[in-house]
Amino acid sequence: MKLYNTKIKLFLFSIFISISSFVFSQNESESICATETSQQFLNHYNSIKKQVKSFEQEFIKMKSNKNYNTRKTLNFIPIKAHIVRTTNHNGGLSETSVIKAIENLNEIYADAFMKFYLFDEINYLDSDELSNFKKGNEQTLIGTNYVPNTINVYFIEAIENSFGESICGYVEEKNNIIIMKNSCAVNDSSLAHEMGHFFSLLHTHGPSNSRLTTELVDGSNCDTDGDGICDTPADPTLSNNTIDDSCNYSGNVKDSHGNFFKPDTRNIMSYSRKSCRNYFSEQQFSRIYGYYKTIEDSLKPDYHEIETENNDLISVKIYPNPVSNDKLFLKVSLENPSINYTITNFQGQTLSQGKTSNKEINVNNLSPGSYLLVLDNGTSSVVRKFIK
Ligand SMILES: [Zn+2]
Repeated sequence: MKLYNTKIKLFLFSIFISISSFVFSQNESESICATETSQQFLNHYNSIKKQVKSFEQEFIKMKSNKNYNTRKTLNFIPIKAHIVRTTNHNGGLSETSVIKAIENLNEIYADAFMKFYLFDEINYLDSDELSNFKKGNEQTLIGTNYVPNTINVYFIEAIENSFGESICGYVEEKNNIIIMKNSCAVNDSSLAHEMGHFFSLLHTHGPSNSRLTTELVDGSNCDTDGDGICDTPADPTLSNNTIDDSCNYSGNVKDSHGNFFKPDTRNIMSYSRKSCRNYFSEQQFSRIYGYYKTIEDSLKPDYHEIETENNDLISVKIYPNPVSNDKLFLKVSLENPSINYTITNFQGQTLSQGKTSNKEINVNNLSPGSYLLVLDNGTSSVVRKFIK
């Protein structure tokens, strides 16, 4: 545990993203991200910049090699999902929506050689108070609901800032967690956006959500100002009011040299309309990858640390997940268990079946992907998800 604590501390120190109390939207559909990058984070980033940059070089090399082996270069990243429901166990994001949201993340992050997976079971928090979450109340939310060495994401029905305005999501610096409003978690860009913050990306309009960026339209200070990334144009901070239905920018703000901004309304890290945001630039991917590789040890949960609590199949854990060496192992407290297993895809199609008595399942016949494993011992059955 000592090593773990050290890792956690390092990890917590590794990200300092401050949350603005900036006033934003009037209605839910316009609720935006409340992450604002602090000077502490920028200082921290500068202290590890050299290492991040060397991983960025590795990334560029991998990208330029057309024959690279995607399987070998893929990095698996654990997400611990916490779903907040009412005290009466009602509401809450559905498990299907969480899985879909992660699949969407994976489509976007495949270009950074990253694949997210759901770590262990979904954790449910039943509380009326937490269902209408007030930013700043993170400690109550976390309580014991936090798994080290994973990305803890809390899915909540409604999130408000201190002015009572709706928030879509944010990365909370102190605990290094992501808080997501349910409707934003499934809009196909907001979770990817918060994940971008988690992996060090700034908004394309720069560290502040309230001051005009100092990045110049001509790109001459792109490396140091704005988001510090040069293939994203200077951005005067977008909003639904300055982006039309066809995702065109209609504002007329000028930079300090008198040049009109020509922002990218499609970038995921912008404040553009959520339906317009659909991509990261190559340098953003490179930064995400470089930062991830720099902190990757802090995202390696230990499956052996998961304790089983009773003798039921309900306590069965599977590991390693993602599978390595074509073998999946069951952690089960029964002596000599005889367990039937069925492996299906998410469409319910059976791909493999058998019986195991040595807590081991061979999955060499499966191609890379996500699967469901159904375990049954005659009296009870459980379903587990895994990635190969
Ligand atoms: Zn943001």
